[in-house]
Amino acid sequence: MKRYSAFAIAREALRYHTGWERAWTSPEPKRHYDVIIIGAGGHGLATAYYLGKNYGITNVAVLEKGWLGGGNTGRNTTIIRSNYLQDPSAAIYEKARALYEDLSQDLNYNLMFSPRGVMMLAQTHHEVRGYKRTAHANALQGVKTEWISPQRVKELVPIINIDGPRYPVLGALWQERGGTARHDAVAWGYARACSRMGMHIIQKCEVTGIRREGGKVAGVDTTKGPIDCNKLGLVVAGHSGVLAQMAGFRLPVESVALQALVSEPIKPCMDVVVMANTVHGYMSQSDKGEMVIGGGADGFNNYTQRGSFHHIEETVRALIETFPIISRLKMLRQWGGIVDMTGDRSPILSKTPVENIFINCGWGTGGFKSIPGSGWGFAQLMATGDSPLCRAFSLDRFKEGRFIDESVAAGVAH
Ligand SMILES: Cc1cc2nc3c(=O)[nH]c(=O)nc-3n(C[C@H](O)[C@H](O)[C@H](O)COP(=O)(O)OP(=O)(O)OC[C@H]3O[C@@H](n4cnc5c(N)ncnc54)[C@H](O)[C@@H]3O)c2cc1C
Repeated sequence: MKRYSAFAIAREALRYHTGWERAWTSPEPKRHYDVIIIGAGGHGLATAYYLGKNYGITNVAVLEKGWLGGGNTGRNTTIIRSNYLQDPSAAIYEKARALYEDLSQDLNYNLMFSPRGVMMLAQTHHEVRGYKRTAHANALQGVKTEWISPQRVKELVPIINIDGPRYPVLGALWQERGGTARHDAVAWGYARACSRMGMHIIQKCEVTGIRREGGKVAGVDTTKGPIDCNKLGLVVAGHSGVLAQMAGFRLPVESVALQALVSEPIKPCMDVVVMANTVHGYMSQSDKGEMVIGGGADGFNNYTQRGSFHHIEETVRALIETFPIISRLKMLRQWGGIVDMTGDRSPILSKTPVENIFINCGWGTGGFKSIPGSGWGFAQLMATGDSPLCRAFSLDRFKEGRFIDESVAAGVAH
């Protein structure tokens, strides 16, 4: 596969762009693979990539029932940060954020990573205490964040109203190297790199059954026929419970719709990401000029990729209080994804009761930011049986009561 470069663009310009190749191949499935990953979202593709890159395991298939990146990876608001409270979370989210810094070069694919800074507003005294505590914890964890004053907030975001009548801005937790990336490009970049290593990404291939022999995985049944494997990774976000049931075990996750919306494009007016958790809403401006707004999660379990209408009204109403200038903006599009949430709002990266089946799920409302770190750790777990990044996130923690409570850091009320 040819490398993308300025030279390649110039060469193709001279020959009317006739020499570009497809970014990834679309092969028919083989009868057997060393590893099958179910789910071609960011986490599944990143796992496959690091299996090949870090462990030389390339006889890998990634099976996707729809199109790659068509799940939550292509539906999120693209916020990247690592300002979590607990040590295991800080470790995996910071690993991911650090990998994002030069992932475009590593994958030879422009992910449009934009470390423009992320701030989480404190609008109650309770939040002030909580975010100051997180800033101290992050200092100990080696994660660079800081507590900033309302005046600094106003300097960084001139369009914000810091003197709101109900919830004035009392300060913010600020991560200067947090930001955004182009979500589809993350999936596409990993997919292209996997394809370059000879892996098979098989779209429109739904897994309908999981076969076991003597307590071990033997293979999967799919809409393209049966495929055998030595190891299987379940990386299907909102459908994790369904796949776990096929494999014969239960998961402590709930699936709900989470939604987002974008406005009509306007001139650049905000060059950082702002999260306002008390009023509940978060916003950034895309390169196209649209205001990208994160909405709420449904209060009931469901599999509709849409979300309830009242959230749109509540989210926009809340944000208008903090950003009065958006009151006359027209909203263009709204959509939803199915997020998988655990009780402690932390992910599961774990072996399972079935030998050689591994599960990566439970990223809930915040798993885009963690894609590279999750793929890195989960590939290590699948290849070697253990990973320092994943250890604390095993399924056992729900039996042993070792919860990693991140319900505040999650950023979305649920
Ligand atoms: C509206 C919204 C906003 C969000 N905002 C942010 C944010 O700003 N920052 C952040 O960090 N995170 C955010 N998230 C969360 C983030 O998007 C997810 O945590 C992350 O994308 C999960 O990636 P994944 O690869 O695990 O899942 P997905 O991208 O959903 O991929 C799973 C794939 O598995 C496939 N699949 C399911 N069942 C089967 C089957 N039986 N056979 C084959 N394939 C199957 C699906 O089709 C899907 O493509 C947001 C999510 C939503 C919905």
